[in-house]
Amino acid sequence: MIFKSLASSSHGNAYVVSDRDTRILIECGISHKKLQKLSGFSLSEFKACLVSHEHNDHAKSVKELIERGMDVYMSFGTAEAIDAPHAQIIEAMEQFNVGSLDIVPFTTFHDAKEPLGFLIKSRVDGDVLAFATDTVNLRYKFPGLNILAIEANYDKAVLERSEKLPEKTKKRITKTHMEIETLCDYLKSLDLSECREIQLLHLSDAMSREYEFIYKVKKSVPETVKVTACEK
Ligand SMILES: [Zn+2]
Repeated sequence: MIFKSLASSSHGNAYVVSDRDTRILIECGISHKKLQKLSGFSLSEFKACLVSHEHNDHAKSVKELIERGMDVYMSFGTAEAIDAPHAQIIEAMEQFNVGSLDIVPFTTFHDAKEPLGFLIKSRVDGDVLAFATDTVNLRYKFPGLNILAIEANYDKAVLERSEKLPEKTKKRITKTHMEIETLCDYLKSLDLSECREIQLLHLSDAMSREYEFIYKVKKSVPETVKVTACEK
């Protein structure tokens, strides 16, 4: 299975997951034109799109994709917030499948109505991917993980020092996004013996330093894991 980022920031998020049989999108927080241009595929070549929550940087093109005939999966709360009555409704811990991909949504923690992350297993190559973004923490351990795509949003020390952001915004960030030390502690608690890559998502423009984040994460996981940060 391949996980590839097309865009990963508060200006827009979109990711491609594919195995030899099935290609899907996770998030559609950029225009449908950009989705096609950056992925190199037409929309009809994606079997579905999974959307984690209603914020525009994740859900911008939901209605357009549905209108163009794509199955777009999200929680009831997300569909309600976007007003997307024709979305495919999914529930945390209820497995569904798209082509050769078995997908289990799980609860994440964010200032959204019913946000979800996704555990995806390919029936073609057996790979297991966990995707979680815009979440202050995570509750699950995901055994047998091969690819982890996870938010690394901000550095607490940098955030506290910042004079650019109002206190209210700082507070919101600390309650809704993943701090780098939180992530490292979480990673240390996982069995990553079968993990080959970790891709860091949604790094904050001002409150993160990419090389530091990669360094910290590398120190928290086995040496065999490749750690990269997705381009914004
Ligand atoms: Zn969000």
